[in-house]
Amino acid sequence: MEKNSVQKMKINSRSKYLYLLLSLSSLCLLMGLTTLLWWFIAPRLDDIYEILRPISLALLRLFFLILLIGVSTVMLTSIFEKNFLIVKFAVNLYNRIMYPITIFLGTICGVSRERIRESFVHVNNSFIKASRQQFRPEEILILLPHCLQNNECKIRLSNDIYNCERCGKCDIAGLLSIAENFKVSIAIANGGTLARRIVLKFRPKFIVAVACDRDLVSGIQDVFPLPVYGILNIRPEGPCFNTRVDLDKLSATLQKIIYEEKR
Ligand code: SF4
Repeated sequence: MEKNSVQKMKINSRSKYLYLLLSLSSLCLLMGLTTLLWWFIAPRLDDIYEILRPISLALLRLFFLILLIGVSTVMLTSIFEKNFLIVKFAVNLYNRIMYPITIFLGTICGVSRERIRESFVHVNNSFIKASRQQFRPEEILILLPHCLQNNECKIRLSNDIYNCERCGKCDIAGLLSIAENFKVSIAIANGGTLARRIVLKFRPKFIVAVACDRDLVSGIQDVFPLPVYGILNIRPEGPCFNTRVDLDKLSATLQKIIYEEKR
């Protein structure tokens, strides 16, 4: 594929704002529904014990305050890619609780799941950039999907990706050169189960994963708190078939994440 056509297909880095906006709207919706629920049950609380009503209202306000502080911190971290006292469990809660609600709200608003998942990957990457963590090459794993391999290539790569003969018909050859250049591990998986096995085998401290939006979201959530930088694959011939990857973007990511003195 021509380089400029790859450039055209690059996903807009600003797309993290879609997920942030939708998740903020989901939070407001959640707060509204909780308040409505409290408003309905408040008279019953009075019947049980008079003090229950002010206590439950105070607890609800405290809950909202914690939620607002937590979400604002997470949002600021993502927008400015600076660490605003970010704590891993806050990100985890944000991802796990807000993700299904955000998907639900987005679907109602007519936003496709694919766009929301892509945006989620950008938000996840912004958390990683904000953390400013760096790793040694041996702590890093590049994890690839099977669909990057040219469909006509009969070489079995799942056991050892270095079986590739580097004919250049797909991006595997370029990816191997990048892995060798940066001295990082690289593996290919043809499904979630094999991907988990590969992670257990290599025990990386940082993963650069190339995949479609759906696999990246499930992978990121599966291995949390292990940091996964997601790179969305390019699908010029449709999903799961002869997919491509922006090699420059992958190199740039590794460049930033690897200790300078080790390169
Ligand atoms: S680059 Fe490697 S994996 Fe891709 S088609 Fe050629 S031999 Fe097969």
